[in-house]
Amino acid sequence: MKPDRDLNMLVEPFRSKAKKFLELCPDIFCTEAYRTPGRQAELYKKKLSHLDGVNKISEHQKGLAIDIAFHGNELYPLNHQTWRGVADIAKECGLDWGYDLWAHTGFIDNPHFQDNGKSTNNNGMHDYISMAEEIKEPILTNMEGENTLSEGQVKALINIAVDRAVARLIEKLTK
Ligand SMILES: [Zn+2]
Repeated sequence: MKPDRDLNMLVEPFRSKAKKFLELCPDIFCTEAYRTPGRQAELYKKKLSHLDGVNKISEHQKGLAIDIAFHGNELYPLNHQTWRGVADIAKECGLDWGYDLWAHTGFIDNPHFQDNGKSTNNNGMHDYISMAEEIKEPILTNMEGENTLSEGQVKALINIAVDRAVARLIEKLTK
């Protein structure tokens, strides 16, 4: 049985959270999403999972988990910080990381991310990204020329971007 990578088999709102997570992390891709009980039983038999799929149900069977790997030669990086980096973004998207969930039990599950069960508002994250985009342009334009921005000018640009982000958040929250 092959792993199912189709994100559309995931359950909302987790599906949107997982899609957002993958969008924000171009270095990774989904290796498995929804699992049938048969597939879960197969993994259990191969000792690739500690859940048998019947008595112990995986979040994958509920459409509430994804496994990921990294593009490039190192599918599963040995460097913990590489994982931690994407896990921090996952957290912003409302996902719990397998490592954080089970490392204390001795079971290390780096590729696994599942729904944290809470509805999340991702606006904060989006606004930081658009904020960075807004200030990037004038800074880059200036750096290509002879002049560089003064510290005061950079601070002014950041303040403008922060004000805009806050205004946008307030607008969304008061809708
Ligand atoms: Zn998993």
